[in-house]
Amino acid sequence: MNQVFAGLPVTVFEAMSQLARDNNAINLGQGFPDAPGPEDIRRAAADAVVDGYNQYPSMMGIPELRQAIATHYAHWHGLNLDPMTEVMVTSGGTEALTSSLLAVIEPGDEVVLFQPMYDSYLPIIRQAGGIPRLVRLQPPGWRLNEEMLREVFSHKTKAVVFNNPLNPAAVVYPREDLELLARFCQEFDAIAICDEVWEHIVFDGREHIPLIAIPGMRDRTLKIGSAGKIFGLTGWKIGFVCAAPPLLRVAAKVHQFLTFTTAPNLQVAVAYGLGKPDAFFHGMRSELARSRDRLTAGLTSLGFPVLPSQGTYFLTVDLSALGLNETDEAFCRRIVTEHKVAAIPVSAFYEVNAVTSVVRFCFSKNDATLDAALERLSDAIHR
Ligand code: PMP
Repeated sequence: MNQVFAGLPVTVFEAMSQLARDNNAINLGQGFPDAPGPEDIRRAAADAVVDGYNQYPSMMGIPELRQAIATHYAHWHGLNLDPMTEVMVTSGGTEALTSSLLAVIEPGDEVVLFQPMYDSYLPIIRQAGGIPRLVRLQPPGWRLNEEMLREVFSHKTKAVVFNNPLNPAAVVYPREDLELLARFCQEFDAIAICDEVWEHIVFDGREHIPLIAIPGMRDRTLKIGSAGKIFGLTGWKIGFVCAAPPLLRVAAKVHQFLTFTTAPNLQVAVAYGLGKPDAFFHGMRSELARSRDRLTAGLTSLGFPVLPSQGTYFLTVDLSALGLNETDEAFCRRIVTEHKVAAIPVSAFYEVNAVTSVVRFCFSKNDATLDAALERLSDAIHR
């Protein structure tokens, strides 16, 4: 069998969710909301199933959704995307990433990646014959700097994969870091695959800046989005790739043999959702920020050193100062079995040289779930 995949463990999210089920634990591991999602958007999907078209839609996505994506990004970020040649709908952000990576990477190409990183990137890069060049970001800020980029970028660099806002570290990168990365992409003629699935989940008035909007990046960036994240409907798996035609054309060739199309009824509902007024998106951010604050306050009062969460559904705690004498993974295994709360060890987001003291908790849950988890964790760090 193919060793790239045969040698892989089951993803940590699946493994932890299984442990959560086995232990009857509260699952603050995998990132999905308790809430069922916006009713009007779900209703639009239901209507489209019953009354609408349920046959193969256009391979690139239904025109209404491609137009809605272009309009949405023009409104929120001032982007000028041509919906017919620069927008493609995929079956989730995961497929958008795979289509983009396979479209760009040829055997021997070097690909710059930042750890901690989402776990789908590396196997696909390896399958394409790419050579990963890993940068290790440092808590608590997890910021980029010139020195770390100088070490990994070279004339062999074909692409960089950049996740902003960053899961699991919950950082929303400022313009300064994006400009630095853009400077390296231009100096070494590299393509950026920018995973922006968390783009709308940003807090405290922060603004998400798409890398594709940074000067010099318009024609060398594949921008990845996910409606599952934007609307808290994670099972829908509707993703997007936005890129200049020479890049998108090739990503579309991969997409046509990965999934070819994506459920048309859900596309109708996402097109409707993307047109919702700004207040909807700001309201969602405030609700999630309130949950973040609730879990942060609770964990802090229990003695957990909580790192700030600027975006995503996640916050992290750094156990290093607690003298627990166990790794993040051992901690997660202990709390799921003994305290019945599942979390994710951040070391799972590293290939090598992991920071092994940071644990991720998901806060996109209702108050009762968060409070019950806090209650169960009350003596987790006082052994
Ligand atoms: N990238 C990141 C950083 C993610 O956190 C996720 C989902 N957890 C994805 C991609 C995948 O998105 P989707 O569910 O739309 O495939």
